[in-house]
Amino acid sequence: MFGIERNPGKVNEYLHLIDIKQHGFPNTFSVFLAEFNNGVVIIDCGTSKDVRKLLRYMKENNISLDSVKYVIASHHHFDHSGGLWKLYDEIKKYNPRLKIISSLETMNMLNNFENEQHFVRSRETWPILMGKLRKIEEDAFKIINSDEYYKKEGESSNIIDTFTLNDSEVGLAILETPGHAPGHISPLFIKNDSVDFIYFGEALGSLNHSKKLETLPSSAAPDFNYKNYMTSLKKIKELTPFSGGFAHFGFVSGLENVHAIIDDNEYITKDFRQRIIKLYREKPETKYIFDKLTPIAIPRVEIDVDEDSQIYQTLIKFMVTVVYGMMMDLGYRT
Ligand SMILES: [Zn+2]
Repeated sequence: MFGIERNPGKVNEYLHLIDIKQHGFPNTFSVFLAEFNNGVVIIDCGTSKDVRKLLRYMKENNISLDSVKYVIASHHHFDHSGGLWKLYDEIKKYNPRLKIISSLETMNMLNNFENEQHFVRSRETWPILMGKLRKIEEDAFKIINSDEYYKKEGESSNIIDTFTLNDSEVGLAILETPGHAPGHISPLFIKNDSVDFIYFGEALGSLNHSKKLETLPSSAAPDFNYKNYMTSLKKIKELTPFSGGFAHFGFVSGLENVHAIIDDNEYITKDFRQRIIKLYREKPETKYIFDKLTPIAIPRVEIDVDEDSQIYQTLIKFMVTVVYGMMMDLGYRT
């Protein structure tokens, strides 16, 4: 089998890829749900509008709400965690011991949605997409402190929890992967002493193709930090994961495929940044830079290039975010 899976359903013996059709489009946002003998882990949940789609998937697949032990928030961005309060409220009725796993930064930024810059800007750029936001009580969170993150050395001490899967054990650990956003984390599952799955979130850009191991950078204004992003990417590469999950969108498996897609994102992120630096010197205009970069992005996206289509227009908006995020990180924009 080729290494990219973008059809929803079970992608390995414990992991479900759920397409919540965010903003009404398929293949936009993946929710990953890990189902073990003694508990369920949900990774990211989308906006408040997406939660009922996730709950419906669970009902259809006989996954009970009282079995959910953790919901993990990779970072605070609304398309990932905007609906967290709602999902928490729903599951908590059945399992009062439910915990949300996140970094401290994520909890604080999420609960400061009225003033936090990502939310302020998103309300201007994507007003109808955001859904409702609400504060979440601090007791709901299991915050991962700096000494609790997964390290390749001494890994056994940094397992957050252990689950059983038929005859084997699967450990849950959390890798700190800032760069796309501060406080970004990547949960991973360890089986037979190796990393069986890691949720990239947006630490590895976005996957917009079902046949090519090619990505796009996932810079976003105002949170992107190139230096941290590249450091996180290298940390992921060092783990030699067997499979990985993109928030936008899908599952990649096989050591070589995962390695290739990490290399690709390292290449394209560097390449975009270098091009922006060069183009900015030629002409310091956002539109000029944007128009030169879009033709490089388009072949990496599996779409019919019909410039009136909604999906094309969404890609263009996404590209603006990427270019602008990198320009801010370079100090070209404030
Ligand atoms: Zn994000």
